[in-house]
Amino acid sequence: MINAPLDMIEAPSPNFDERTLPVTLLVLHYTGMESGAAALARMRDPAAKVSAHYMVEEDGRIYRLVGEDKRAWHAGVSEWGGESNINSASIGIEIVNGGHDFLLENGNLPPYPDIQINAVIALSKDIMVRHHISPRHVIGHSDIAPLRKMDPGEHFPWQGLAAAGAAIWPDSRDEDRRVLFTRGMRDRGVAILQSGLAQIGYSARVNGEYDAATELIVTALQRRFRPDKVDGVTDVETMSLVKWWVEVI
Ligand SMILES: [Zn+2]
Repeated sequence: MINAPLDMIEAPSPNFDERTLPVTLLVLHYTGMESGAAALARMRDPAAKVSAHYMVEEDGRIYRLVGEDKRAWHAGVSEWGGESNINSASIGIEIVNGGHDFLLENGNLPPYPDIQINAVIALSKDIMVRHHISPRHVIGHSDIAPLRKMDPGEHFPWQGLAAAGAAIWPDSRDEDRRVLFTRGMRDRGVAILQSGLAQIGYSARVNGEYDAATELIVTALQRRFRPDKVDGVTDVETMSLVKWWVEVI
């Protein structure tokens, strides 16, 4: 089956340079600003020195800012699977959403509309086919920069993307939430946890101490796969998710 080309709005950004690596990752972001228009203007401003390859508006419109053969500037200081030049190794999609800085009046995170997510899925799958990116390699900004980023947030529908083949989601998990490791603990089990996180791709150091970095990486993993309890504490369920992700090819 031949898919119709996606409708794109051309919105070129000057904020890019040359790739030095093949594309192996797709990184998803939220814009975290008051509007899509504001985010688009910022990503097209040479002084801002930030961009992405695409931006997806809340109504599903897709903007193309940087050609996929070029290196857009979306990842910042980041690391995945030992690679720190993520901008060279990835395609970045900015998804319009206010995120953690623009909560609803009831304190909830602003939802991603279905029409927007359907566009994100169509765009992601198009990119994944062309660059042979596996669903395992569709990740969040918070995964590659867990110490400083929270996007696309625990309200992003990763499970829906996985159902469409554009991400991963566990078929089952151990739902036991008894606590195993918390901040400050030193244990051989903590080293095993850290080793698992590093195997997944996170920038985890294996030192056996449940330090601030470990807590933030666990928090990032929970944003992906356990959105109703994002606390940085490793319980039995969190450990089962680590073990599952290590095994995903
Ligand atoms: Zn981001």
